[in-house]
Amino acid sequence: MDTLNSGSGKLVGLSFEMGPIRPPSEGGSYSLLIRVTRNCPWNQCTFCYGRPYDHEKFQMRSVDEVKADIDTAGLLCDEIKNVSWELGYNGDINTQVGTALIRRMPQLGNSHSFINVFNWLHSGARTAFLQDADTPIIPTPRLVEIIRYLREKFPSLERVTSYARAKTIFKKKEEDLKDLSCAGLTRLHIGLETGDDELLWKVKKGVTAEEHIVAGRKVMEAGMELSEYIMPGLGGRAMSRQHAENTARVLNAINPDFIRSRPFTPLPGTPLFDVYMNNELELLSPHECLEEMKILIAGLDVTSRICFDHFRNPSYLNAPGQLVHLLKQDYDGYKLPEEKGSLLEFIEKGLRIGEEKFLKTESYQL
Ligand code: SF4
Repeated sequence: MDTLNSGSGKLVGLSFEMGPIRPPSEGGSYSLLIRVTRNCPWNQCTFCYGRPYDHEKFQMRSVDEVKADIDTAGLLCDEIKNVSWELGYNGDINTQVGTALIRRMPQLGNSHSFINVFNWLHSGARTAFLQDADTPIIPTPRLVEIIRYLREKFPSLERVTSYARAKTIFKKKEEDLKDLSCAGLTRLHIGLETGDDELLWKVKKGVTAEEHIVAGRKVMEAGMELSEYIMPGLGGRAMSRQHAENTARVLNAINPDFIRSRPFTPLPGTPLFDVYMNNELELLSPHECLEEMKILIAGLDVTSRICFDHFRNPSYLNAPGQLVHLLKQDYDGYKLPEEKGSLLEFIEKGLRIGEEKFLKTESYQL
């Protein structure tokens, strides 16, 4: 069943540009990755410092460049589907097709473009993610053109998402956001990190709590879904309570579709790592982090889903020495307010488990 006669060899030469990161939830849905800009236009947050992008300079790609990448992704789809037909699978993209392709052309196993498109097709070709850190910063008509082109090329897409800086959205006109929504941009991922103004200023987020609120509301009013990322532990011991309380306050004012927890860890190469190494930042212990999360969750008055879909969320070793996630790490998390009580019970359970059993924040330095 795996004899390939066609021009599937073309697959080896087909590649398009991809950025280094995407949200875990987009990995979970095997989103097609289309790079619209390169790197981060801000690069100043002291816990990040553009680290995921190797501190490279921000660049906008031309509409033609991005369209050419979309075309290449389309050619990859066509070639993969041709092979499926040849193998008798009627265009269905399954693991047998993938195995046959890799057996014939082992180089495909190293092709990020092939792997991305294959997995995307295999999972139903329903979602796409526009890279990199702040796509809406490009002029709206250009982004509208790209999204329309992407949607025309791949009508199976149900969701098209992107990262965005709150400051960019704050400055953008409502009409522009509505245009993007109408063109088919369906969800934005925004790094709130904290709703505390003092901490926002300290970590050089470049945006105030009020601007976060305005930006978040604008996204939702434009008809897009919104994921807000929060960073438990970012303020260390000294700012833990104000961080939790003000983050809850800002989230209550926005009421986003998703709240996603990304506990803080000092990453080498960032200014905040140096602060930590100079003993100017006391990290939260595992129980202190749970106490902070408890204050935040108790203070939430939202209808959002709160998700712990990242490995840095609390995990501990049980008696047989297996790693157990205290909170489920799936992409849909817990629905508020319905599951608030059980969520707080999980946290209480965590507080009854010896601190020494939890993985420490520092152990996640990657
Ligand atoms: S805006 Fe995002 S990517 Fe850019 S430096 Fe801040 S956290 Fe990092």
